[in-house]
Amino acid sequence: MKEKAMTILYEVHGNLYVNLTNKCPCACTFCLRQTRESMEESGVLWLEHTPSVEEVKAEFDKFDMGKYGEVVFCGFGEPTEALEVLLGTARFVKERYGKKIRINTNGLGNLVNGKNIAPLFEGLIDTVSISLNTPDAGKYYELVRPKFGEQSFEAMLSFAKECKKYVSEVVMTTVDTTLTKQEEEECRKICEEVGARYRIRPWED
Ligand code: SF4
Repeated sequence: MKEKAMTILYEVHGNLYVNLTNKCPCACTFCLRQTRESMEESGVLWLEHTPSVEEVKAEFDKFDMGKYGEVVFCGFGEPTEALEVLLGTARFVKERYGKKIRINTNGLGNLVNGKNIAPLFEGLIDTVSISLNTPDAGKYYELVRPKFGEQSFEAMLSFAKECKKYVSEVVMTTVDTTLTKQEEEECRKICEEVGARYRIRPWED
């Protein structure tokens, strides 16, 4: 049986990460959740239940917010699966601490929520970092195994373009050593078209 805890907030590299949900519409072949209970810095990230905004706010009281550069919605699941809690928490963090806020996402939040959620980020979210993974739609489908099927790659790209209208920084990432140089060039072109910054991130970042 999986070990569970209520690790809602955890520190990574001088930032405070927020773990809101274990739900995700994908089953990535490389997902760390398949083999691990936790990450080194965080402790167990399988949640006993999905927290409410009030529960998340109470957790912030336990941390010295002056220590952190950024608040990052990430965790062991797709943050946009808990959209209302995410927005409520982001509003609280902005108002109380004035911190920069980032969402690390698979980019399928519009499919998850059945609507364009990017306008809701305006004035609240500073950075959206989207996992691009590969420049190829077919390969994306094989790697990410999204429950929404083959439309997912295009939906992720159009979500990125929408975010550009409302969020100052949109980043699209691939993982170092997983692509050829040619594929990375193709990713760079996709990012240029979207208006996103391309980032090749280290494994497990
Ligand atoms: S999108 Fe992230 S959380 Fe979801 S299966 Fe893929 S790697 Fe895991």
